[in-house]
Amino acid sequence: MDCIFCSIAAGRVPAEIVYSGNRVLAFLDVNPIHPGHVLIIPKRHSRDLTELPEEVLGELMLATQTVAAGLVHSLDLQGFNLFSNNGAIAGQSVFHFHLHVTPRYPQDNIRFVHGTKEYGPGEMAAVGERIRQAIRDNVSSKEQ
Ligand code: 5GP
Ligand code: ZN
Repeated sequence: MDCIFCSIAAGRVPAEIVYSGNRVLAFLDVNPIHPGHVLIIPKRHSRDLTELPEEVLGELMLATQTVAAGLVHSLDLQGFNLFSNNGAIAGQSVFHFHLHVTPRYPQDNIRFVHGTKEYGPGEMAAVGERIRQAIRDNVSSKEQ
């Protein structure tokens, strides 16, 4: 499979690496929202969050915290955004799971532009129950 982030993780494609752990790598995004925009990936290929093996998750979040603190201190940030696009519909363009950490600056005019909706009568409870049921099914299928 031809995956650019697998190639970076394997050292076949150069990247500006800022952190490397057992199972996790962090490097600068080549087209940053702001300089210092970092991508954090599992070294082994997973397409998205739902495919990510449980044993990677802890290290991935710890690395994200470490990298974010490094950004805050090195760039003297007041804040940063942490986000991940999962699926083409959500804007994912590289189909190897990654978290974005990007610096924020006053008046940088970066916005996640969207309207908001309202739930109809009973709709919120129905949606909540659908999700809870799917989570229960998924957890019990893993336990079997
Ligand atoms: P996505 O759109 O999938 O959430 O984010 C993919 C990100 O990967 C983009 O921000 C893009 O700039 C970055 N990217 C794509 N190819 C490369 C590459 O070869 N090297 C690096 N460092 N970043 C890349
Ligand atoms: Zn990959």
